[in-house]
Amino acid sequence: TGTPLAGRVAVVSGASSGMGAVTAERLAELGATVVVLARRKERLDSLVKNIEAAGGTAFALAVDVTDRAAVQTAADQVAARFGKADLVFNNAGVQLISGIEELKVDDWQRQIDLNISGLMNVIAAFLPHLTDSAAQGRPADLINTSSIAATRILAKFSIYSGTKAYISHLTRLLRVELGPKMVRVATVEPGMVDTELPDHVTDPDASKLMADLIHDIDVLQSADVAETVAFMAAVPRHVNLTEITILPTAQV
Ligand code: NDP
Repeated sequence: TGTPLAGRVAVVSGASSGMGAVTAERLAELGATVVVLARRKERLDSLVKNIEAAGGTAFALAVDVTDRAAVQTAADQVAARFGKADLVFNNAGVQLISGIEELKVDDWQRQIDLNISGLMNVIAAFLPHLTDSAAQGRPADLINTSSIAATRILAKFSIYSGTKAYISHLTRLLRVELGPKMVRVATVEPGMVDTELPDHVTDPDASKLMADLIHDIDVLQSADVAETVAFMAAVPRHVNLTEITILPTAQV
């Protein structure tokens, strides 16, 4: 069937660029109503236009996910407009790699605020949607974006990797409570994907390392991750693909 996600209401955070934007488009193409969250409203508005032009349904909410009250307001708006969200792609994140002795404590804090606290704010606001959907016999998915950085030992990645390790392990623990309620909980752990992620790095060496990697090998495109997330959401309700690592073939 061409629309395996028909009737689903998806929320995608970090949807204004990169894998979030392309995943939102793909979920809409497969029939889901998609609510896109990020701070850059113009980007979200043009994404919504593209989705609608392709025959899909989408709605933009400009939200800074580090603002807990704002995320709760967004969840209330989703409920009022579309009923319950039943698919949450919890994807907003930032990677600010730098050597530990540089003491870029503001960068440390930004990663913790977004990758950990922001992710938790989305879970707090939308979990009742997911448990309600599951209780009504509908599919319910919480898919968190982690990274291969969650397990790899890479110089200069310590704070970022720490936040991603948190996400991967949190997800395993959430399954223990939510699996029995038929809420599927999963992480997608990508390797190198060509997105805006390296643009934010303030350490010039680290930023060059990322840029070189992107040019040296045939890295993943956001569409590759989007296809994976769509697949995770489209499998039968009793199947939970819990942790998927997706690497560029040439990345070791
Ligand atoms: P992008 O930088 O292209 O996307 C990041 C998204 O997060 C943007 O839409 C950005 O939108 C949003 N965002 C940033 N801050 C906030 C905030 N405070 N509130 C709401 N949204 C916010 O990079 P990617 O697509 O690569 O990143 C997506 C996820 O993938 C991240 O979690 C990243 O760690 C992870 N990842 C990326 C890999 C890669 O190689 N690219 C590899 C493995 C994991 P805006 O600025 O408009 O708010």
